Amino acid sequence: MQVVYNFKELNKALKIESNKTIGFVPTMGALHDGHLSLVRLSMQKSDFTVVSIFINPTQFDNPSDFINYPVTLENDVSLLKKCNIDLVFIPEFKELYQNEKKINIPLNGLDQVLEGNHRKGHFNGVIRVLNIFFQLIKPRYVFFGEKDYQQYLIVNLLAENHFNNIEIILCPTIRLQTGLAMSSRNIKLNLEQQKIASKIFQTLNYCKKHFSFSKINELEKICFDKLKDFSDPEYFEIRNSITLSKEIKKSEKYRAFVAIKLSNVRLIDNLAIN
Ligand code: AMP
Repeated sequence: MQVVYNFKELNKALKIESNKTIGFVPTMGALHDGHLSLVRLSMQKSDFTVVSIFINPTQFDNPSDFINYPVTLENDVSLLKKCNIDLVFIPEFKELYQNEKKINIPLNGLDQVLEGNHRKGHFNGVIRVLNIFFQLIKPRYVFFGEKDYQQYLIVNLLAENHFNNIEIILCPTIRLQTGLAMSSRNIKLNLEQQKIASKIFQTLNYCKKHFSFSKINELEKICFDKLKDFSDPEYFEIRNSITLSKEIKKSEKYRAFVAIKLSNVRLIDNLAIN
């Protein structure tokens, strides 16, 4: 496994046979089994797997959230080495953004709701960094977790509009036994708080169990109130799985989306409910 830190080293390492497919897993580090599941899928599907570790400042709306984001670089590299991937890219902000060519893509309002509404500019930053990564790495497949489902929808639009050759692959959310979705931010929770945070998944399952098209608003409120009992919820919303609209179309698929703060740690999750 090679670890590279700049464009020159990256380009050299990417000189592989032209018939080989590159699988790419972008991450912000503090790796856990959720990330590693993406890495394994990439290794199964592609000939050459690249993982990036980069805490992208342009996607943070809150400077203290950026500064406090967990960093475990040494451990990350050693985990990836054990997976036997081909290449780790750990770029520096300055070089990554120095020749950025900004792009515009029609997001059809996908960036205006849920995370987009609660973290202003977040998806703009995500698109900026992935646009740079996709141009540099030229992957055939890019792997994203269902845990960040809204991000997956938006990245799909990026690929459709600008990177025809790239297939975006959605990978299932990996959870602890308690149901809590694995997240780099979980490191900041003590064991007791992790146990409490498992109520997020319980609430999503409650929503799934009680879902009916006639009671969406009522169910959202019940679930929001359940979250309030143990945390500071930002939203609990039921939305169309493709458009993220609230409009009811009984033939279509819906998901519940949630964001909470638990002693200043922000956690998100979602679940398909019909
Ligand atoms: P992050 O490092 O949080 O930016 O995440 C990098 C990638 O890992 C994203 O595609 C996430 O959706 C994915 N990911 C994060 N947590 C999980 C999880 N628990 N299960 C599956 N994928 C995940």
